[in-house]
Amino acid sequence: MSNMTDIEIAQASKMLPIEEVAAKVGIKPEQLENYGHYKAKVDIHALKDLPRKSKLVLVTAISPTPAGEGKTTTSVGLADALNQLGKKTIVCLREPSLGPVFGVKGGAAGGGYAQVVPMEDINLHFTGDFNAIGIANNLMSALIDNHIQQGNALDIDVRNIPWKRVVDMNDRQLRHIVCGLGGKASGVPREDGFDIVVASEIMAVLCLATDLADMKARLAKMVVAYSRSGQPITAHDLKAEGAMAAVLKDAIKPNMVQTLEHTPAFIHGGPFANIAHGCNSIQATETAMKLADYTVTEAGFAADLGAEKFLDIKCRAGGFHPDAVVIVATVRALKYHGGVPKTELNHENLEALEKGLPNLLQHVDNVKNVYGLPCVVAINAFPTDTKAELDLVEAKCKEQGVNVRLSEVWAKGGEGGKALAEEVIRLAEDTTNDHFQYVYDLEDSIEEKLNKIATKVYRADGVVLAGDAKKQAKQLAELGFDKMPICMAKTQFSFSDDQTKLGAPRGFKITVREIKVNAGAGFLVAKTGNIMTMPGLPKVPASERIDIDADGKITGLF
Ligand code: ADP
Ligand code: MG
Repeated sequence: MSNMTDIEIAQASKMLPIEEVAAKVGIKPEQLENYGHYKAKVDIHALKDLPRKSKLVLVTAISPTPAGEGKTTTSVGLADALNQLGKKTIVCLREPSLGPVFGVKGGAAGGGYAQVVPMEDINLHFTGDFNAIGIANNLMSALIDNHIQQGNALDIDVRNIPWKRVVDMNDRQLRHIVCGLGGKASGVPREDGFDIVVASEIMAVLCLATDLADMKARLAKMVVAYSRSGQPITAHDLKAEGAMAAVLKDAIKPNMVQTLEHTPAFIHGGPFANIAHGCNSIQATETAMKLADYTVTEAGFAADLGAEKFLDIKCRAGGFHPDAVVIVATVRALKYHGGVPKTELNHENLEALEKGLPNLLQHVDNVKNVYGLPCVVAINAFPTDTKAELDLVEAKCKEQGVNVRLSEVWAKGGEGGKALAEEVIRLAEDTTNDHFQYVYDLEDSIEEKLNKIATKVYRADGVVLAGDAKKQAKQLAELGFDKMPICMAKTQFSFSDDQTKLGAPRGFKITVREIKVNAGAGFLVAKTGNIMTMPGLPKVPASERIDIDADGKITGLF
């Protein structure tokens, strides 16, 4: 193990030309659209008629500490390990958002010896997909305001326009704005606001669309405003879907890059994991499943949110489901759930570790018994973990009948993930393990769906519809928007909607404060608590450390 930073490890690696990486899974050079030497978009049309053949592996996690538990790192390392074991594997990940790169979290291209490269490009602009989404989104905004300015034939209620402008930046200054100032020629004044690009409904549309035609149809259905009589006004009413889809013609094609070990990686789409479903595009996952023996993919946040949305939203839309699920756990997170404060997580504490286990056990129980899928826990080993701690987690998991493997991919790359990969293969190849079922039916009422998620997955006593949520549920049902899946916007730190309730809390209810339709994405967003769709920068933004020298070498990304 070295003490190099992620970016130093990435820059020390020698990448293969992207054609060679693509050739490993049978993609021909003419099916690639190169963006330089190491990035390419894949012509999914050319691959459309291939049948799906791959096993699908979902990587999810226990409720995390604020630092993240290593789902991306584990996904990348597991894919490398599967390749080492002779299974042709593609890893499918989300594209990082620029906001967090400059903010607190840093990049999102894995870590240590389990990374995707070129990490500078992946973290900074990449192939421009997010820019295209931002432009399509802001075209919609301009069309709404222009319609109002030109006489407002649709009678748009300027006080009820859910559609916001977007920018790919953590910029709290733009959260709430008044626009259209400056007199008659400069528009009609109204309140608006900016979200970060990844929160745009167009991002969710692009990620859930099964092809270009489906994307355009979904864009058309987006509810972008309401009339003064409360009727929904769609993008189609403003004749916007054609131009938006045209702007997105390349953004919809999956991007291929490689891991440090040259495993092909699709990095495509990056919807928020709270007000959206938090996984890479169906197009990328679907294409990978046509080309590989194994497709490894990650869902954002912990399993109560990430896996739930992956299974109940993305899998339903894509018509597939995982053959095995990996739940990433860390000694740090277990100690956190055992009551250790964030600042003390690097010290050995066996008692707290054991006390934190119920959180992990509930996620495992959900995957196995609520969804009926085979699963294995991957303990993502950190340099600060002690042997006594790692041994204790393993022993306690075994005592509880939980399937567990140590993962050392951060320190050792694919080699450190072989034990995990072997278990994943065993689980995935044994089809008698598959008893998959969704948590709710689309036909259930909005309240039934919410109650099923809350009681079965979170183990809450039920759901309370507070504020306007009850009225909104009724209105949405009247408008015919009630037969869609639900996208829960809830804190990732707790099974409950209170981020201080760690472990496996009982005796609580989930309070839903707002329900909104994303008719293009095809889901209802249920907001609990205060969900931020435009983050801010911290006191010392990560951007202060990012630099580039005269030769174009970037430092300070992590
Ligand atoms: P997630 O996908 O769950 O948010 P990531 O894989 O992005 O998590 O990891 C979050 C951060 O933690 C990254 O900076 C990564 O380099 C670091 N990290 C992940 N696993 C390890 C590990 N085993 N040891 C040390 N650092 C790690
Ligand atoms: Mg991640």
